[in-house]
Amino acid sequence: MTTEQASEPPAEHEPPAEHEPPAEHEPPAEHGRGPDGRPPLEMLLELQDLDTRIAQLQHRRAALSERQELASLTAALGDVTRRAAEVQGSRAELVERQQALEADIGATAARREALEQRMYAARGTPARDLQVMDEEIQNLRHRRDHLEDAELEVMVALEPLDAELASLDADGARLGAQAGHVRAALVEAEGELDEELAVQVGARAAVASSLPEELRSRYESLRVRLGGTGAARLVGSRCSGCHLELPSMEVDRIRRLPPGTVVTCEQCGRILVPTATPPAA
Ligand SMILES: [Zn+2]
Repeated sequence: MTTEQASEPPAEHEPPAEHEPPAEHEPPAEHGRGPDGRPPLEMLLELQDLDTRIAQLQHRRAALSERQELASLTAALGDVTRRAAEVQGSRAELVERQQALEADIGATAARREALEQRMYAARGTPARDLQVMDEEIQNLRHRRDHLEDAELEVMVALEPLDAELASLDADGARLGAQAGHVRAALVEAEGELDEELAVQVGARAAVASSLPEELRSRYESLRVRLGGTGAARLVGSRCSGCHLELPSMEVDRIRRLPPGTVVTCEQCGRILVPTATPPAA
């Protein structure tokens, strides 16, 4: 604890506060007054309340249910997209096979037509040759039947894939629309919290800059070290930081100290401010 006394800020910017009380007894070390004449420890509690509020807002922002919901929807949309790509892949293979079969069917038909024309146009073709041509035509007919059966099988196999793709498309559209709504809700909720955060952060900056430097930096380092709470109220005999009861002798000692003396909770190490006021909710 230093004996440096924080004082009124330089009067060049603003006149001295009107309500500066007369210094009847020496103010304890570290007990300058803020620009508005409020005791630093009172301002410290306000700073702590603002920091608590800011931490709550940040927690609420991080824990917005829309964020989780959006993540789930995005994951589901990813699953749908992946499955659709798989089905498209299988479908493309079948379509390729169907096209090859159709090309084959076309070539078979052309070959048969050519043979038939030759057969019926040619006069004086030896019977043996005609028989050979006729046999080939029969073979080509069988081949066509076989190819058409194969194509039918491919078309039958395509049906469920097309149905699944249509269903996946519908799922994708539905999930996409839902994600759009949730994203908009998230942006709105974040915006509201950000607005309030900006107000609280601004208020915090004003209060922090009014505190004596040593008290402020001591508070800041305690706050970082002790889970966001650097200053606590002594309510009755209980520390609002660690929620433990202080020994009654210690409470008596603290309450008898000159107002504004900076003391710390011997159990949690936080700056302890005697007050009857419970912490703001
Ligand atoms: Zn404590």
